[in-house]
Amino acid sequence: MIPMVDLKTQYHRLKVEIDQAIAEVLETTAFILGPNVRAFEEEAAAYLGVRHAIGCASGTDALHLALLASGVGPGDEVITSPFTFIATAEAIRYVGATPVFVDIDPRTFNIDPAAIETAITNKTRAVMPVHLFGQPVDMAKISALCERNGLLLIEDCAQSFGASIDRHQTGSLGISAGYSFFPSKNLGCYGDGGLVATSSDEVAAKVRMLRNHGSEVRYYHDVIGYNSRLDEIQATILRVKLRHIDEFNRERRRVAHRYSELMADLPVQTPHEDGLGVHVYHQYTLLSDRREAVMDALQKAGVSSAVYYPVPLHQQKVFAKSCAGLSLPVTESVSKRCFSLPIYPELEDSDIGRVVEVIRSALNG
Ligand SMILES: *Cc1c(COP(=O)(O)O)cnc(C)c1O
Repeated sequence: MIPMVDLKTQYHRLKVEIDQAIAEVLETTAFILGPNVRAFEEEAAAYLGVRHAIGCASGTDALHLALLASGVGPGDEVITSPFTFIATAEAIRYVGATPVFVDIDPRTFNIDPAAIETAITNKTRAVMPVHLFGQPVDMAKISALCERNGLLLIEDCAQSFGASIDRHQTGSLGISAGYSFFPSKNLGCYGDGGLVATSSDEVAAKVRMLRNHGSEVRYYHDVIGYNSRLDEIQATILRVKLRHIDEFNRERRRVAHRYSELMADLPVQTPHEDGLGVHVYHQYTLLSDRREAVMDALQKAGVSSAVYYPVPLHQQKVFAKSCAGLSLPVTESVSKRCFSLPIYPELEDSDIGRVVEVIRSALNG
C-alpha cells in the first residue's frame, strides 16, 4: 500500500534526534510553556522572518487568536476562499464575523484576487487568503488591494510552512498568520499544535495573553482568554523538524515534478506553478473528468488517493442559510474533478512510477 503520507518513515529518519529530545522533556518534567516552546518560538520567528511567533494548541486556534488579536469581530465581513478546510471559516465565525466566499483561480485553486475586489463592502474588515496545497497566493495583488481598501490581511498558512515569495516566507506578509502543526502538515508535530506569526508587537502581546487565560502575569487576568498552548513535547519535536524543513520541502517538490513529468502526456490537469512563489506541495492535486474511475483503479492497485475538497464551504450544510443562492462556478467545477495523490518527502521514484502507471492504464482502459 502506498499511503497519502508516511509519518513512520519520517520518524525513523529522525528517530535518534526526536527520541532524545522527548526524553529530555520527560526528565525535566517542564511540560507547559517552558524552554522548548520559547526556543521554538524564537527559531520559528527567525525562520519565518517575523518579529514574533507564538505557539498555540492548533492551527484552528492560531487563526482564531490571530483574528481576535486584530480586533475582527461581530458585524465584520472577512473575505476568504470556499476551497479550503473548514477551519478557515470556523475561525472567522468564532469571533462573530461573517465569512464571505469568493471564487478561485482554475489553475492554482487559490483565491482569485479580482473576485476579492468585487466582494468588498463597507462591512469588509479583513481578507484571509489560504496558501492552498502549499502554493503561495498572489500576495502582491492581495496586499495592494488590502492597503487600498484599509483591510487587514491575515494569512492561513496551515498548508504552506516554508513556502516563499521572493525570499519572503508566506506568513510574513500580512498583519498576522496562522500555522498548523497537525501531524500530516509539511511541518507536523506528534499531536495538535499551531502558531501565530506576526511582526506587530501589539498583536503578539494580545495573542500571548489570549492563549493563556488572558494572563500575562500568573493569576492576574486582564481579558477572557483560552487554554491554547503549544506543549513542550510538541515544541521539542518541532525544533528537530524545523532544522529539516527546507530539505523536506525540496523533496516534496522533487516528487511533484516527477509526477508531472510522467503525466505530461495524460489527459489530466497537473498542478500549475504560477511562478509567483515557491510551491511546497502540501498536496499534489490534479483534475480529471474521470476522477472516480482513476481513484477506483488506484485503490485496487493499493495506492491511496483522496479528494480535497469534495464539498466547497459555501455548499456545506453549516453555511446553507448564509450562502443560499451563492454560485461559485470555478470552485464547484474543481471540487467535482479534483483528487490528490500520495506525496511525502520520502516517496521514492519507483513508487511514483507505479502510481502513474495505474493512472495511465485507467485513463487508457
Ligand atoms: C489543517 C488546516 C487548518 C487547521 O489546522 P488544525 O491544526 O488542524 O486545527 C486550517 N486551515 C487549513 C487550510 C488547514 O489545512
